Amino acid sequence: MVGTGLPDRAQYVIIGGGIVGCSVAYHLARLGHTDIVLLEQGQLSCGTTWHAAGLVGQLRSTPAMTNLIRYSTQLYSELEKETGLATGWMQCGSVTVARSDDRMTMLLRTAAAARAQGVDVDVITPGEARDKWPVMQVDDLKGGLWMPGDGKANPTDLTQSLAKGARRHGARIVEGIQVTDILTENNQISGVETDHGRIEAEVVVNCAGQWARRVGRMCGANVPLHSAEHMYIVTEQIEGVNPDLPVLRDPDGYIYFKEETGGLVMGGFEPEAKPWGMNGIPENFFFQLLPDDWDQFEILMENALTRVPQMAQTGVREFYNGPESFTPDNNYLLGETPEVKNFFVGAGFNSMGIASAGGAGRALAEWIVEGAPTMDLFAVDIRRFADFNNNPTWLHDRVKEVLGLHYAMPWPNRELDSARPFRRSPLYDRLAAKNAVFGSKMGWERANYFAFEEGEKTEYGFGRQNWHEAVGAEHKAAREAVVVFDQSSFAKLLVQGKDACSQLNRICAGNIDVAPGRTVYTGLLNNRGGFESDLTVLRLKLDEFLIITGSAQAVRDTDWLRKNFEPDAHVFLTDVTSSWSVLSLMGPASRKVLASVTQSDLSNDAFPFGTVQKIDLGYATVLANRMTYVGELGWELIVPVEFTVGVYEDLMQAGEQHGIRDAGYYALEGLRIEKGFRAWSRELTPDITPLQAGLGFAVDFEKPCGFVGKEALLASKSDPKHLNTRIVQMVLQSGLPQLWGGESVLCNGSVIGEVRSAAYGHTLGAAVALVQLNASRKVTAEYLAENSWEIDLAGERHKASPYLRTPYDPHGARPRSS
Ligand SMILES: Cc1cc2nc3c(=O)[nH]c(=O)nc-3n(C[C@H](O)[C@H](O)[C@H](O)COP(=O)(O)OP(=O)(O)OC[C@H]3O[C@@H](n4cnc5c(N)ncnc54)[C@H](O)[C@@H]3O)c2cc1C
Repeated sequence: MVGTGLPDRAQYVIIGGGIVGCSVAYHLARLGHTDIVLLEQGQLSCGTTWHAAGLVGQLRSTPAMTNLIRYSTQLYSELEKETGLATGWMQCGSVTVARSDDRMTMLLRTAAAARAQGVDVDVITPGEARDKWPVMQVDDLKGGLWMPGDGKANPTDLTQSLAKGARRHGARIVEGIQVTDILTENNQISGVETDHGRIEAEVVVNCAGQWARRVGRMCGANVPLHSAEHMYIVTEQIEGVNPDLPVLRDPDGYIYFKEETGGLVMGGFEPEAKPWGMNGIPENFFFQLLPDDWDQFEILMENALTRVPQMAQTGVREFYNGPESFTPDNNYLLGETPEVKNFFVGAGFNSMGIASAGGAGRALAEWIVEGAPTMDLFAVDIRRFADFNNNPTWLHDRVKEVLGLHYAMPWPNRELDSARPFRRSPLYDRLAAKNAVFGSKMGWERANYFAFEEGEKTEYGFGRQNWHEAVGAEHKAAREAVVVFDQSSFAKLLVQGKDACSQLNRICAGNIDVAPGRTVYTGLLNNRGGFESDLTVLRLKLDEFLIITGSAQAVRDTDWLRKNFEPDAHVFLTDVTSSWSVLSLMGPASRKVLASVTQSDLSNDAFPFGTVQKIDLGYATVLANRMTYVGELGWELIVPVEFTVGVYEDLMQAGEQHGIRDAGYYALEGLRIEKGFRAWSRELTPDITPLQAGLGFAVDFEKPCGFVGKEALLASKSDPKHLNTRIVQMVLQSGLPQLWGGESVLCNGSVIGEVRSAAYGHTLGAAVALVQLNASRKVTAEYLAENSWEIDLAGERHKASPYLRTPYDPHGARPRSS
């Protein structure tokens, strides 16, 4: 024992006694893992938790996130029974209103998604909204949603109740202890240093709220978050406001309301937030607030007076201005850090920590115990970020925009505008000069499309957007002539060593033990047989492989591969993303274009599909990989970064007579969906197997070394229900509507699935979707043919034709990674 009676060792040390740390402790202990010490530098809930407004809204951006909050609501409603401590949970429901037609369309889309996820929701008129929330002015409203399962809770009581539950199951919770350092050996956790002595530990969980970035740095782990001021007021009593009043959200006015002691809590998410804590978060910031800032609050107050005119005659009892931490993409950070083994994070809750804590705490506890997430958590996985995302200047500039995203219109292809441009390919200026309109992925600026007019910007909307025709032209050129995509953002991982082949082959579902010069498309599967990634493995030499994987996957795939390499294996992985650009030359005329700038033989016999060769190209020497993500003849040219501009210029010049064009990611998306190629994190998730995805061809059950996930996949082969879930392509029968993804899919009028990704298929002449069906029987071609299919687009149903094989298949080409 050390200091004030702390143990000198524990299996789990949790840093932070806010709602998240207490939830992790509670769930770990409930799983029977009770050798836990939770350390709080002040008192429980003294950081951000104590001053939260306590709204708990269920619907989130992905089904997995929604499910976690649904679990939170269930837990919060039952916890008092278990612990004897009230949580203040009240299932008062929520009303969300729309001031504009676009917002109403968005709410209708939300309602369809909610139903697909089993969340109760009703679309209501402005009058019905006022019946539920009588003090509201509704003249300017178009309508709203009623979600009866939403509620509110008391954050401090909830935290105490979780803490009591954790203690009852065996956890120790100690207040007034500050962790001052994190101890590691060989990049693995060995303990923590505190202001009261050292504790050895197997696992450390960083739930330090807005201090979590600094705590991460104690052991070299990136926890990219930044604080911003976040405000609400509490009014005096208002006639007509009673404890049963639902929560009200008015996102067009950036505001929310809930009842408190007969008055209203009114707060919101202003479009431009005020970052805080640039010089570090004070250590003793316990139960403290920041000064009132009525200037910053003005935009919220004005909108509140429009919605609740009575507030003009009502006094303000309290002004709460508390800092909260926000992440670069408004989703929280969960999971084991790639930098340090057994160092887990649950932080950066973007003003959703009270709603999320129940589900996130359970998910993190399961992840710790199982060694891997037990469900698809990619949206919050800390491995979606890299080193550069932890840059404080970048975080500061990005956070100004992030807070407002809560209520900003979630346009289907909305790009964040702040802290850009960030990562640029050598072609950035050239493409910009050709009217490229850029999007951002993993920090990379990528051309989404090439506008017809200089200076054109994306005009967002739920229907066709202003780039429809420009993308149509790129799409047509890829199908009928030739295009160049700058895909330099692909992550590239070099795997070398005497054991590189045997190690990779055990991790990949496909057989990568092929002759040098061959390229293999394969999935990486988890122990449940679900996708952790899909990627292309280029065998360059007997002991050297280049992996090309999705732009967002560099950190996560590196982590997955390294974790699965055997400890003593002679294998070395290096992220070489920044050394190579990728220019994809795609289209029927690609061979002619490439032939005119290389002396290499590009004939089908000399250079078949699925092979890679080093070729001369102008003055450069590049790797040419015969692969396609668009379903046309083409080569991905992997070019040393400093040769990129020269290669690009040579290709454009040579392609002129063949009608070559630049093409962007919107065209790429339409081409791949039309071709039925699946993409990681859209159709391919940790919960979907290759059999369900229709990618059985990319699995080698016969290879002698087996592969991670094989047993689960074999078991699912004999499970009669396994193929009740399937990825299926659907094409709308009308050529007019635009699908974006997230829409629900109906079979004979009942919702049985969700659109995972969608785009307008310019070759097929209609919107095309890749959907996930969760049917009550095996999804076969007959089943699809026998039933009637519709897609719910903001409340309107459109007939769709289903396909197990794409209707656009002139070459029968195989997919590759995104
Ligand atoms: C004004 C406002 C309104 C909000 N309203 C809502 C809402 O309506 N609904 C909702 O879901 N969310 C809301 N939130 C967000 C919510 O409050 C947070 O997401 C949540 O409280 C975060 O909990 P946490 O446990 O991660 O962080 P915290 O509560 O900050 O807990 C972290 C703890 O770690 C401790 N700690 C830090 N460093 C160390 C160390 N080195 N050693 C030991 N201990 C350490 C700190 O003292 C702190 O107590 C609101 C936030 C604000 C600011």
